[in-house]
Amino acid sequence: MRALVTGGAGFIGSYLVERLVNEGYDVVVVDNLSSGRLEFLSEVSDSPRLRLIKGDLADPSVALEAVKGVDMVYHLAANPEVRIGSQSPENIYRQNVLVTYNVLEAMRATSVRVLAFASSSTVYGDAKVVPTPEDYGPLEPISVYGGSKLASEGLMSGYAHTFDWTAVSFRLANVVGPRSTHGVIHDFVEKLKHNPSELEVLGDGTQSKSYVHVQDVVDAFVFLTQRALERGSRFEVFNIGTEDRISVLDIANIVSEAMGLSPRIRLTGGVDGGRGWKGDVKYMQLDIRKAKSWGWRPKVNSSRRAIELAVRDLLEPKA
Ligand code: NAD
Repeated sequence: MRALVTGGAGFIGSYLVERLVNEGYDVVVVDNLSSGRLEFLSEVSDSPRLRLIKGDLADPSVALEAVKGVDMVYHLAANPEVRIGSQSPENIYRQNVLVTYNVLEAMRATSVRVLAFASSSTVYGDAKVVPTPEDYGPLEPISVYGGSKLASEGLMSGYAHTFDWTAVSFRLANVVGPRSTHGVIHDFVEKLKHNPSELEVLGDGTQSKSYVHVQDVVDAFVFLTQRALERGSRFEVFNIGTEDRISVLDIANIVSEAMGLSPRIRLTGGVDGGRGWKGDVKYMQLDIRKAKSWGWRPKVNSSRRAIELAVRDLLEPKA
């Protein structure tokens, strides 16, 4: 199999690339290195199975060059910052919606018919059912980022049904692990390195969400996409997360303890009833029974454990 991984130099993408190369795939990576880093691919950069294209998928010719000759696409390239989305909707539109459209059009032009996509729990917005199943609706994202992921899913479904593809959308909980360059753990570690005596926590601290380890996400991408292909699925959606959630204050305590610090916690209070920022979903946990019934389950099956492992690895980076 020859696979394209868009955003393959990023946090999640680089682990997926490692896995695919080690499983014998020929892998093309396309990345503009806006948040990805070449060093994340150092484990496999010497492999003859890996080809790297440095380019911006907002340019349709880059998408076309990347897709040519592959059998399937893992589409991860995006601006993953939920928080900054509201400050720059145009940026989110370009990197998340336009880029997805360019990838879909490149696939159509080259008759590539298998797609896996990194979507997000944010498509659910403030869901009234928690844990939230895949068939929950109506979907009402409360961030521009969440809207961009839902728009991408809609386009994918339309292309899959119109052109007879197999397309799989993975609605990811918060993903943690080494190489993470954004998100709450990364923020807390950086803040505490800067000022070990005080830790600012956005919101009222009671926000609680589900966290999943990056290796479990990679397992889900590879295993469930293969199953969907075997079953001849047109369009599948899977929630990928753990079966619990953890509050942001608990995370602050885990990070502080791991760094050997006892900072004063300063809550900002937040907006709209204690959210960290406008568009922050306060309570998120995904119902993962569908993915489990297909044979995937998280090996790190608790948000606390996933956080603890990620903090340990962030403080002692291996590669
Ligand atoms: P990341 O920023 O590390 O990875 C995104 C990669 O895409 C980066 O390498 C970046 O350089 C690249 N990229 C961005 N725009 C591009 C463009 N126009 N052309 C080419 N490359 C481009 O973030 P991540 O956490 O690894 O996220 C990967 C995917 O998973 C994203 O689609 C993100 O929205 C999604 N996701 C992440 C999480 C999470 O908690 N990390 C949760 C849900 C969904």
